[in-house]
Amino acid sequence: MSIPTKMHAAVLYGQNDLRVQDYSVPAPGPLEVLLKVYACAICGTDPRLIGHGWKPMPNYGTFIPGHEYSGQVVAIGEGVSQFQVGDRVAIESHKGCGHCVNCKRGRYTICLNYGKPETGHRHYGFTSNGGYAQYVVNHISNLYKIPDSVSYEEAALITTAACVHFALDNIGGLLGGENVAVLGPGPIGLMAVQLVKALGATKVILIGTRDERLAMGRQLGADVIVNSTRQDPVQVVKDETDGLGAELIVECSGHPVAAAQAIEMAMRGARISFVGDPVEMPQINLKKFVLDDLRAAGVRGEGMADCARSLALLGTGKLCVKPLITHHFPLEEINEGLQTFIQRKGGALKVIIQPNGCE
Ligand SMILES: [Zn+2]
Ligand SMILES: [Zn+2]
Repeated sequence: MSIPTKMHAAVLYGQNDLRVQDYSVPAPGPLEVLLKVYACAICGTDPRLIGHGWKPMPNYGTFIPGHEYSGQVVAIGEGVSQFQVGDRVAIESHKGCGHCVNCKRGRYTICLNYGKPETGHRHYGFTSNGGYAQYVVNHISNLYKIPDSVSYEEAALITTAACVHFALDNIGGLLGGENVAVLGPGPIGLMAVQLVKALGATKVILIGTRDERLAMGRQLGADVIVNSTRQDPVQVVKDETDGLGAELIVECSGHPVAAAQAIEMAMRGARISFVGDPVEMPQINLKKFVLDDLRAAGVRGEGMADCARSLALLGTGKLCVKPLITHHFPLEEINEGLQTFIQRKGGALKVIIQPNGCE
């Protein structure tokens, strides 16, 4: 496979200053591969990183963001035996250092050497170069082969599914037959609906403020949809669960009111997964949390082979990401793609950037 020396890449020069330019194609080091990127999805964290920076911030003028991507292996570095040129792969953005206490516990998304590349840590698209480019280098520990039935653009959304998988892992999973409330019908919430349904939830109640997204949630498996601008979601959840409340709550919106409602709608002994990154600090009913013996967990990224398990579910059709993909843009139009995503133009949900055109 012939690999050029130069490529096109979207380079961040400062706050909200993303420029598509020529860039040297990187070479894979030991246990790394070079990917030709076919799809990179815009995530909610991208506008924040592009607009406000990241901690620690990589160097402006050389840094390439983008962390939800997939592509084809076009070159392999020293010591790579599990992957070969031609493989179709999706990636997860976190690679732990492998030797800190958290990495040893398998919790590499909260690696204690976060943002220190000299330790081996990588967070592709955040602290190391990512996928808004025609080529990107990735370590083999965060690569996953894509089933034949799954397209590159579908596979680019794998961390959206894996993040929900990880959120469930962190609160001890879902027991078949449980009633589940999902707050926030964005891409992650819509994936949560499908995943808990696939895992055997009895009744899934989806809560949000946008009718179109709620309607899509209904199509993807939600049994009850609630527009919280018109109905009290806590009351609806109680009414739908014989007055008991939901046994599992997945809060994906990051809205402080929703976070507080998540606790109010919980059955005694329920588990709550806080997935949404809060925009403001919520005021929560800690008394109910304590006396109702609730459990809650946060989630950062995805772990525990969640990407592999999510890809397997995508391959069998139990998870479906196609309806979430609303727009496509070539790399040259990435800023238009970002505006489409941020302003939700044309009902935008997931916007895909195609650095090498359609595959
Ligand atoms: Zn993301
Ligand atoms: Zn580590």
